[in-house]
Amino acid sequence: MQDRQDRPETTLQGAGVAAGVAIGPARVIESGLLAAPEYPLESQTAVDADLDRLERALNQSRRQLRTLRSKSKSLPGTAAEEMGYLLDAHAAMLDESRLVRGFRDRITKGRINAEAAVQAEVAHVARGFEQLDDPYIAARATDVREVGGRVLRNLMEGQAPSFGELAPDTILVAEEITPAETAQMDPEIVAGFAAVLGGAEGHAAIMARSLGLPAVLGAADLLTSVSTGDILIVDGHAGRIIVNPRPETLRRYSDRQAAQRREERKLARLRDVPAVTGDGSHVTLMANLELARDAELAMAAGAEGVGLLRTEFMFMNRDRPPNEDEQYDMLRKVVETMDGRPVTIRTLDIGGEKLAYSLGSMLGDHVGDAVNPALGVRAIRLSLREPKLFEAQLCAILRAAAHGPVRILLPMITTPGEVKQVREILLRLWRRLKRRGAKLPDAIPPLGVMIEIPGAALAADALAQSADFFAIGSNDLTMYTLAIDRADEQVAHLYNPLHPAVLRLIEFSVHAALRARLPVCVCGEIAGDPKFTALLIGLGVRELSMAAPALPRVKQRIRKLDTANAVRRARMVMEVADSGRIAALLDDLDGLA
Ligand code: PEP
Ligand code: MG
Repeated sequence: MQDRQDRPETTLQGAGVAAGVAIGPARVIESGLLAAPEYPLESQTAVDADLDRLERALNQSRRQLRTLRSKSKSLPGTAAEEMGYLLDAHAAMLDESRLVRGFRDRITKGRINAEAAVQAEVAHVARGFEQLDDPYIAARATDVREVGGRVLRNLMEGQAPSFGELAPDTILVAEEITPAETAQMDPEIVAGFAAVLGGAEGHAAIMARSLGLPAVLGAADLLTSVSTGDILIVDGHAGRIIVNPRPETLRRYSDRQAAQRREERKLARLRDVPAVTGDGSHVTLMANLELARDAELAMAAGAEGVGLLRTEFMFMNRDRPPNEDEQYDMLRKVVETMDGRPVTIRTLDIGGEKLAYSLGSMLGDHVGDAVNPALGVRAIRLSLREPKLFEAQLCAILRAAAHGPVRILLPMITTPGEVKQVREILLRLWRRLKRRGAKLPDAIPPLGVMIEIPGAALAADALAQSADFFAIGSNDLTMYTLAIDRADEQVAHLYNPLHPAVLRLIEFSVHAALRARLPVCVCGEIAGDPKFTALLIGLGVRELSMAAPALPRVKQRIRKLDTANAVRRARMVMEVADSGRIAALLDDLDGLA
């Protein structure tokens, strides 16, 4: 075996989803890393529930193998063929095989939980292969373990992942990094991450940006090229991963990292400077938060409030959903940390790629089995179907609102009827809390809607009659308008918020809000990209909410802007039908405005 330092430097390409340079040792997250719990199934209902869980995990594993199979075609040379064979072999093992029958038998006859059944059957079959004389067949034991690990990981998805002991500046490497896993990353220890799957607008990417962790996703040959302990450079700007860098490469990137830190320190000086254009228009800059602990980052970045608190992350990495009191404690902490600045709390947006183990049984029925989860029971649709879950969350929000200004935001709204329904629920809960003697604010907080579905944007006039404010979610708006999965790296190159259809929907919604004199904020990822700032200001937007680390750069851009110029230029942009030309116009605008 070659010594690590003798191994040649290799460069892998993916999509850079969070800028910056990270340098450190790799830690490869293997499938089935978690220790599986074992417990008896006492009743037939419990047996049936675990059989259902197993089927879902098997289906998910099959889906993943299909995605990896098509991704493997882009690997260089014979690697594509070899990987193809391997993935086909794995898929065959999950195709009504002896292995799968063994999993089911252990649940029904042995009456043990699905995780324990998978673990025991994998160990049994793998041992059987290893005892055979034929070295080719004996090697199949590894395949069985890998496939079993995949099923196990899917069964345990969302349960608190454990990365084990990590060295400082670790770079996590995996087939896929789930939003729940990103929520577990401590930016004091983890320096960055890289994965084979995932797109720039998925929630793993969003989390990377909000934690300020450089990340590259969609690197096809990552797992065949990197082992735990290899030194990696993640260049989140160029979408590059350099494995075992030569000393001169390391030096070059260390210099870039130092320059980046200097620039950050310079930008930090803008913290207390107002976000005002050259001609004196004020723009409210707020932060998007995923975890309560990030409120401090928002304050440190000089945010004027929280424009979007994604509460679903509070439901991840735990065995059961937080109850009303637990949610109240977490929300109150954010409201108090923001010290009088408005906090926009979005109700649960679970479904699509965002799943939470703690809501497992509920999601199993409504979400896990959906033909197309992004179009199924997601977000407000789930909340309205699960009154207990929704009411606990709304009560926690109403109580937290006693500690500072709060706004309530509803995800994935399509009709005014949904807003009306929530208002009625809020009123009922308000009275109930009053009877209980809970401490409440003077009035029910403003109720806003996310404009993130094309239908909602086109019906923005009607929604403006029932909502108190709009928050434009350009991430989902782009996904649903262009029919492109935001988390799928295979179509990532087609995902483009600069598509004229998306821009027209944004313009339409902003104008509907302004006509109705409603506050309107943009809180999708374009809000944190300085390239879009002049266009959004030109379209009439005066509130932007973004990952805290993006705030200083956007503020810097605003301070150089002239509003009249931005308006003129935005008009020109809106007349162009080609996204390439629009991008060129925006670059131009950057130079001029
Ligand atoms: C959006 O869709 O733009 C948005 C802000 O919400 P999320 O990214 O959480 O779906
Ligand atoms: Mg959204």
